[in-house]
Amino acid sequence: MPPSSVKPRRRRGEGQWALGYREPLNKNEENKKNDDGLNVRERIINIYAKGGFDSIDPSDLRGRFRWYGLYTQRAPGIDGGKTAILEPEELDDRYFMMRVRIDGAQLSVAQVRAIGEISRDHARNTADITDRQNIQYHWVEIEDVPAIWEKLESVGLSTTEACGDTPRGMLGCPLAGVAEDEVIDPTPQLRQIYEDHIGSPEFSNLPRKFKTSVSGCSVHCVNHEINDVAFVGVRNERGEVGYDLQVGGALSTNPMFSVRLGAFVSPERVSEVWAGVCSIFRDYGYRRLRSRARLKFLVKDWGAEKFRDVLEKEYLGYALPDGPAPVLDSGLRRDHVGVHRQRDGKYYVGFAPRVGRVSGTTLLRVAEIAEEHGSDRICTTPDQKLVILDVEEERIASITAALEAEDLQVNPSTFRRQTMACTGIEYCKLAIVETKQRASTLIDELEKRLPDFTEPLTINVNGCPNSCARVQVADIGFKGQLVVDERGEQVEGYQIHLGGGMGLDAAFGKKVRGLKTTAEEMPDYIERVLRRFQEQKQDGESFAS
Ligand code: SF4
Repeated sequence: MPPSSVKPRRRRGEGQWALGYREPLNKNEENKKNDDGLNVRERIINIYAKGGFDSIDPSDLRGRFRWYGLYTQRAPGIDGGKTAILEPEELDDRYFMMRVRIDGAQLSVAQVRAIGEISRDHARNTADITDRQNIQYHWVEIEDVPAIWEKLESVGLSTTEACGDTPRGMLGCPLAGVAEDEVIDPTPQLRQIYEDHIGSPEFSNLPRKFKTSVSGCSVHCVNHEINDVAFVGVRNERGEVGYDLQVGGALSTNPMFSVRLGAFVSPERVSEVWAGVCSIFRDYGYRRLRSRARLKFLVKDWGAEKFRDVLEKEYLGYALPDGPAPVLDSGLRRDHVGVHRQRDGKYYVGFAPRVGRVSGTTLLRVAEIAEEHGSDRICTTPDQKLVILDVEEERIASITAALEAEDLQVNPSTFRRQTMACTGIEYCKLAIVETKQRASTLIDELEKRLPDFTEPLTINVNGCPNSCARVQVADIGFKGQLVVDERGEQVEGYQIHLGGGMGLDAAFGKKVRGLKTTAEEMPDYIERVLRRFQEQKQDGESFAS
């Protein structure tokens, strides 16, 4: 017992709705309370697209627009040193980044064509494949948004809740239904969650973003370990197929891997269990500080047992059966690049654009190549790659040649295959350094300097500490920051994280104190590390293991 003169300290509320904190505790919460983000769609169509950029209400521009995948992009020419000191409006360009959600879908030729045409006609031919399987445009003008939506919706796609404090685009197996080692095809469950809950006011005011993966093969390319909620395909001891339920994974600052709740979720219950987990986040999630408003913090404080108990008693009204853990792979190459057999005897062909950067023209050509080779299924992967499904064996040589003629490599070097980069300073208002172009140049340099290096090796380049390109789970992760070069000048550079990984050896990369590189010296640094590794490695050892 504390002495009577010392009062026990009261813990400050975390803004949890379920504990009675309904009054907004910060500006973001206030903005969401004032008006549901989903309501901005009508204003975009009826007011802003007609009135132009200057007609946009600032609280919509910097808040609710995200509910439809729209952010203003970074005004050109503002260096990374100004990111933290300028007001948000000083960083705003009059153009938008727009994110199209894919939700693990296998896109048809018509869908890829529509995405490509929008890029060509409304986004200066930009299109990036993000590491959440989405497509991201740049240079979009507000006047064009209704036409873009109309075209996307005509092929069954949307930007609804692609950003914002919402259930964002979900990850799903690119190889759903075709993988030889598939435990379960997650497509119906992804569709069900989308139809039941996306765009619904039930979940349009979450404490922050909420990321989902639903997967059913053994490669685990969706990186379930770092999703807020993950359904991972398993077969239980009775031989039934369903999902292992995991919650609370996320990177950024305070990275955490998801924890298993030990529950088995049958396919028909996935949508309601998903809604239960999302409801816990909505009701019990921390809303006082944005930096603690992710599900991982609640999961860390509660633990798996309490989380499962609340889920079952307060939200589902029934107990979930216990279930097995998924079988994990090495996690070394989860990207589906190359030519591989499907279980129906056809083949899928995975290929690597540079760090996810394509263009409308390239996507139109990909659609054409797929169609010419008898395929109507094209997938994006969480490693910023593309896969064409359903290719007959005798067409493999022809499709490979056609793709490689577009610099879409089917047999890329390790460096082309496993280097990822986030958006970076070119468009992102939070960025401190450039990423895409630098990573692309890095690939060329490493291919030249280390032509014989063929082992698995992930290099992830991020423009700031937010880890959109998964800095902490790369073998070599680069986190953008300003550093001092040998002349004593402040220049673009990176903090280095070493030894991260997923799968059986899941671990966060270690930040070695003072281990930084300038952007210019990045290729030298990697070359040194890899040459030393090649000199010292034991038989069968890989850099990533
Ligand atoms: Fe922007 Fe930072 Fe995310 Fe890169 S990691 S896209 S710079 S927020």
